[in-house]
Amino acid sequence: MISPVEEKTRAATGASDTESLRRWQRERLREAEDRALRLTKAGSRGLISERDIVSCPEAFLAVPAKEVSRIITLASSGTERLPKRIFFTEADLRRTADFFAAGMREIVSPGERALVYMPGKHPYTVGGLLKTALESFGAACRSVGYFADTPAMYEPARETDCLIGTPGQMACLCGRVPSLRPKAVLLSGEYVADSLIRRMERTWGCRVFTHWGMTETAYGGAVSCGCGGLHIRHEDILIEIIDPESGKQLPDGAWGEIVISTLFHEAMPLLHYRTGDRGRLIATECGCGGVFPRLETGGRLTQRVQTAARKELSLTVLDALLLGLDGICGYEAVWRPEADLLKIFVCGCEPEKIRRLLSAEYPGTRIAVFSEPQVSFTAHGKRQLHIE
Ligand SMILES: [Zn+2]
Repeated sequence: MISPVEEKTRAATGASDTESLRRWQRERLREAEDRALRLTKAGSRGLISERDIVSCPEAFLAVPAKEVSRIITLASSGTERLPKRIFFTEADLRRTADFFAAGMREIVSPGERALVYMPGKHPYTVGGLLKTALESFGAACRSVGYFADTPAMYEPARETDCLIGTPGQMACLCGRVPSLRPKAVLLSGEYVADSLIRRMERTWGCRVFTHWGMTETAYGGAVSCGCGGLHIRHEDILIEIIDPESGKQLPDGAWGEIVISTLFHEAMPLLHYRTGDRGRLIATECGCGGVFPRLETGGRLTQRVQTAARKELSLTVLDALLLGLDGICGYEAVWRPEADLLKIFVCGCEPEKIRRLLSAEYPGTRIAVFSEPQVSFTAHGKRQLHIE
């Protein structure tokens, strides 16, 4: 069955191939640029980045303040971690719920239950929008907030058909309760290592899907159909890949930085916005029959350091090496560049096994591994490479 996300794009754009889709998107982009010029102080000015939003979010506001339904304040990824504010109208968030409804149809069937390890009390949170989306086709949805490594958080997972959470948190659940038998798992919010997907399939005997999105895209962005590569909500978001150094656009297939333009966002239209995420567009036909370009993601462009031997060290690399190990619940990584020392605090896995594995990957670098009884997660579930 062709991905419902692509069917939705076809219905919204009338496009049946990539060329006609891109023509349609270019026209919508021009209209969005005109609107931004007319309605915002920022106007339309080529590539923009997180720094522009942090320094003056109101410059991007295109509606009167009273029409803003939700404001999200989150820490920026810069070293100062200054607050970043993103605005949405009700219509912006309804579009996301519509995208979620299409994407989730592939993952959950009518009558089934989904459990979301993300905030969901308010209708315009990720959990709230997922609930709207799932209930629209007769599935049930419950949010229990971000996962914590406690038995009270494992319990609700026994009674569900689909688990939704960040890869780090669901890796922990997989380590703690290997006996769970969800039909499907949807991982979102961070880079997902292939090795973790294979481990979940093996341990829980389930199908594993991944989603890429960010607050700036009103949460929703692109979701897998199970064949590889993520189907993009092309009718709402134009994705381009650029060379992060030169800013030049790269051809399909080439890895670079993901740049988004929101084509219809009312509150805060972001045009040519550098996401800081690594990715590429895949233009070959999908196994499901979809023909529009799909997205493959490769973690954050920042948060990458080099060891003394000039090998890349990042959570993307460490996740691929560690999160696929049976039984592991999680780890924290601390990098001390002066000493060429990597410290790992691991839970649910023999420290010596981790030390051997990392020593083979990083010969010459000092590796110290400590055992931890519990995994601690940050308030919003995101993890980072700590640098001392
Ligand atoms: Zn597909």
